Amino acid sequence: MTRWIEETFHPHWRVRLKADKVLHEVKTEHQHLVIFDNETWGRVLMLDGVCQLTTSDEFVYHEMMAHVPLMALSKPRRVLVIGGGDGGVLREVLKHPTVEKATLCEIDRSVVDLSLKFYPEIAGGSLEDPRTDLVIADGLKYVAGTRERFDAIIVDSSEPIGPSAVLHTPEFFAACKRALKEGGVLVTQNGLPFLFPDHLAGTTKAFARLFKAVAPYLCTQPCYFGGPFALNWASDDADLLDISTKKLQRRQEKRGIETRYWTPAVHGAAFALPRYVEQVVLGAIAEASRQLAPARKPSRRKPSTA
Ligand code: SAM
Repeated sequence: MTRWIEETFHPHWRVRLKADKVLHEVKTEHQHLVIFDNETWGRVLMLDGVCQLTTSDEFVYHEMMAHVPLMALSKPRRVLVIGGGDGGVLREVLKHPTVEKATLCEIDRSVVDLSLKFYPEIAGGSLEDPRTDLVIADGLKYVAGTRERFDAIIVDSSEPIGPSAVLHTPEFFAACKRALKEGGVLVTQNGLPFLFPDHLAGTTKAFARLFKAVAPYLCTQPCYFGGPFALNWASDDADLLDISTKKLQRRQEKRGIETRYWTPAVHGAAFALPRYVEQVVLGAIAEASRQLAPARKPSRRKPSTA
């Protein structure tokens, strides 16, 4: 009998994916995990009833999480990826030749091992790269305790439920700020603004209290049902958002990086928010500003498209 696997994250509606073959299903130390094949989406990973990735469209999210911060930085050397045990973000990070060391901090060893077993092409050899430092730990504990300092911290977490809930808190963001080098960039996944505007507002407010520049950006992730997907950006170096399309083009050529979604133009356009999203963001920044001393007003600057 054919099994249909449901996404159980949305309170008032469900998505069901046909499981042509269930390859592995287990309750790990941290979460429920199932990996299965689907004719349309390819191989699918679901954690706690939420679609995390599919082999058919993972490139969208992984490229936008890695290349938007790293292409904006002139020489990213030290990068921390929190979550992302499938290795997809790490794969894209290691395409940048200036990266000397990339730390992957994932809480659930099973995600790493099972991802390598059932869809090794997503990590694409990144876990065997000599620049990779794999740490199995809770991201909050790791970032709060590390002495290392990073040019970029990329938080490829699941939704704010289960083990991932701590990765969407002001406490965690403050710990990330402490672990960033001066002018470093923090990027987090920030959910679906149309369905969960409070998720975006909460992170944006926390960022606006901590950083000089806050700039959510969007991508279209087909398997995240519910409209554009938000990623959030924070840094004390607001000029990083003023990078031109021409400069991004030169950087991509110089670094020899192939992509399937990210382009210099997409980079700039991703920060142009539809009105309903912009209102959530500006409302959150205004609220943070009210709570901050006048001298410390955060900016939301859009990148120039010159
Ligand atoms: N792209 C997906 C999304 O947006 O839903 C996320 C994919 S990635 C597989 C999420 C990873 O975060 C999972 O492997 C999960 O085990 C890991 N994770 C959850 N909570 C964590 C924590 N507190 N510290 C480190 N990793 C965590």
